Amino acid sequence: MSDIPVQPDGFPPDQPTSSYQPDVVEAKWRARWAERRTNEPDLDRAEKPFYNLMMFPYPSAEGLHVGNLFAFTGADVHGRYKRLAGFDVFEPIGFDAFGIHSENFAIKIGTHPARLIPRNVANFTRQLTRMGGMFSWEHVVNTTDPAYYKWTQWIFLKLHERGLAYKKKGAVNWCPSCKTVLSNEQVEGGLCERCKSVVEQRNLEQWYFRITDYAARLLANLDDKSKMDWSETTTQAQRNWLGKSEGAEVDFAVALRTDATITVYTTRPDTLFGATFLVLAPEHPLVPSLVTPAQAEAVADYQQTVAARDLTARKVGDKEKTGVFTGGFAVNPVNGAQVPIWIADYVLMEYGTGAIMAVPGHDARDFEFATKFALPIVRVIAGPGEDADAPLTAAYVEKDGGRMVHSGVFDGQAPMAAKQAVTAMLESKGQGRGRVQFRLYDWCISRQRYWGPPIPIVYCDACGTVPVPESQLPVLLPEIEDFRPDDSGISPLARHAEWYFTPCPSCGQQARRETDVSDTFLDSAWYFLRYPSTDFADRPFDAARTKRWGPVTSYIGGNEHAVLHLLYSRFITMVMHDAGLVDFEEPFAKFRAHGLIVKDGAKMSKSRGNVVVPDDSITKWGADTFRLYLMFLGPFEEGGDFRDEGIVGPRRFLDRVWALVQEAAGEAHGGEVHLNVVAKRHQTVKKVGEDYDALRYNTAIAALMEYVNTLRDANCAERHMIADLVVLLAPLVPHFAEECWEQLGHATSIFDADFPSYDPALLVSATVQLAVQVNGKTRTVLELPRDAAQDVAMAAAMAETTVAKFLEGKTVKKVIHVPNRMLNLVVA
Ligand SMILES: [Zn+2]
Ligand SMILES: [Zn+2]
Repeated sequence: MSDIPVQPDGFPPDQPTSSYQPDVVEAKWRARWAERRTNEPDLDRAEKPFYNLMMFPYPSAEGLHVGNLFAFTGADVHGRYKRLAGFDVFEPIGFDAFGIHSENFAIKIGTHPARLIPRNVANFTRQLTRMGGMFSWEHVVNTTDPAYYKWTQWIFLKLHERGLAYKKKGAVNWCPSCKTVLSNEQVEGGLCERCKSVVEQRNLEQWYFRITDYAARLLANLDDKSKMDWSETTTQAQRNWLGKSEGAEVDFAVALRTDATITVYTTRPDTLFGATFLVLAPEHPLVPSLVTPAQAEAVADYQQTVAARDLTARKVGDKEKTGVFTGGFAVNPVNGAQVPIWIADYVLMEYGTGAIMAVPGHDARDFEFATKFALPIVRVIAGPGEDADAPLTAAYVEKDGGRMVHSGVFDGQAPMAAKQAVTAMLESKGQGRGRVQFRLYDWCISRQRYWGPPIPIVYCDACGTVPVPESQLPVLLPEIEDFRPDDSGISPLARHAEWYFTPCPSCGQQARRETDVSDTFLDSAWYFLRYPSTDFADRPFDAARTKRWGPVTSYIGGNEHAVLHLLYSRFITMVMHDAGLVDFEEPFAKFRAHGLIVKDGAKMSKSRGNVVVPDDSITKWGADTFRLYLMFLGPFEEGGDFRDEGIVGPRRFLDRVWALVQEAAGEAHGGEVHLNVVAKRHQTVKKVGEDYDALRYNTAIAALMEYVNTLRDANCAERHMIADLVVLLAPLVPHFAEECWEQLGHATSIFDADFPSYDPALLVSATVQLAVQVNGKTRTVLELPRDAAQDVAMAAAMAETTVAKFLEGKTVKKVIHVPNRMLNLVVA
């Protein structure tokens, strides 16, 4: 014996007691997968296609963080399981490499994004390879590749062709730090979604996609499980964002004029008799014609103040109400009352008609406004037993059982019935109409930045706005050194005359290019259509490939994209469907949002200094142990808490399995397997398969650990049993499993094996432990066949000397038998 001290069980891993060497095993299998094209399904002939998608990363300079690896590993385990279950799994990966994230970082470190991004992509590729994902490396997508963004531009043209891309001037969100406009989806609580700066308002001409035309379909499909089986949190976020409301448009004639009508939208036409004034957005086009000379100065002053204020603050609307009377009046169509017309900043031109009817008796904001400016407040709903003229001290909100009051012929009706009746009356008189409205805005897609695909439009003095013909795509993004954004609201590309001026595609005269680039979210709104078709240069997606692989079978990603990427992708796919280019209108048949990882109970952040660098962990423990630990942290859809000491357990577990494999591979280990071990095997196969299917990886791992304990306790290293165990583990620890599989005598990849099956009849243990008591005291524990009858149990008990000696010379007065648990003999 040597005098080298014995290492504690399995630690540290650089001085292992077991012969399992993750670095050697993982390098070997990475090379072999590439060489054998193990992860490349036959895209043209796959019979059971399973498109396993995960959200492709932004190749930031920091490299993949542990949250990325958590998400990708969870998606990979699912894909690998499906492959073992008999599917042809296509699991692509790519790089969402355009956009402000990448560009801002390039500016920060003073490297051109065209040089920085390829370096980041190379580093990400190394990390993604090392984590052992089942990635189809022959179908990588990189959004900055002209061979890709040619088709992003083509998508823009398709929308333009269909009247779904248009340019308009209006109030837009401007991020002063990113120096570009943002879509509404990119503003969260008044802050820029990327850099958290307070967003301002600017009046700029921008390109929009008419996503609002699709609002009703986008909403309806959310409830259609046959088209989309999604996490409920995600569909609910989309429902809220789409913001459907049902109400009516009401036309108010402007008093003393026959040429002007103000149309308002209300969700509560039943309260129309309580509308005591109108409020218009300060920018409403009718305002100039309504203003009386006496009010002209006050209105002009107010309009100026509002123009300087940002859109976001106006939307939040939690500040003191301000506004100005125009001097004009409108006529309430239901009672002919003349109501004053005001302007106020809490009404937005971008929402609805840019005008509202104010019902101060039943709306808190209107109540506040009316109180401040001493405008009339009229009650039109009274609660049960409440007097119709009871004073209103705050805006009254209708409750169940209320009735209409001060509402002419509608008095006494329930408000919901009155809503229909008032709408019908307006329709019959041509003064209004029932209308469904959405909160959704059109998608602003132009950005005054450099790092993106140029929008393929040319402006010609003779021909106007001319789309670049498909044959001239891509419009290449020029490599310019002076790419920094500025405050002008004009893209840096406009500063480069050699690019900016171009012959008009239509008449050949000198024309000017559109200098804005498109939103990064357009790049990612169709990337899943490209993956199966990356080998076609002459089309964005091949019809046959798309038909075979679409829609995506399973999509796993972060819920932070619920109303960004996931909504935009649905919209673009619907448009492609309507253009006859794809035969499905929902891109993701199934979507599951994964949870988030924290470190020692705290959110990971650079400022806290608690960021887990996956490279370090993988170097120390190996990718398989790291994967196993990540999946063991907690329920995949909820996330978990990363603690450095926690990874010891998964490593120890793999060492034990390794030892079992060595034993099984070493000698011919045949023979009988105890029936209880057989039952445990069937239970484990059932549970692990179901858990993998439902992304419950932590409980699958717990079941596998328990099973390994059972095998060890029973001294079972029977080769078929161990081989099944290795297949069960394979989705979690792919390199480890391949190595074990080979050691067990297999020449092909374990991922070409079948997931073990179970026999429902064998799920229960064959034998049970029966406690035998004499006068309530346990004297022995017997192993008996399950459900043994009382006489069998009695006979077995009597045969035991430890029992028999307590029965000597006594009479059994009573027998208490709880089958499979306990046998109590009461003697005297
Ligand atoms: Zn920003
Ligand atoms: Zn022209």
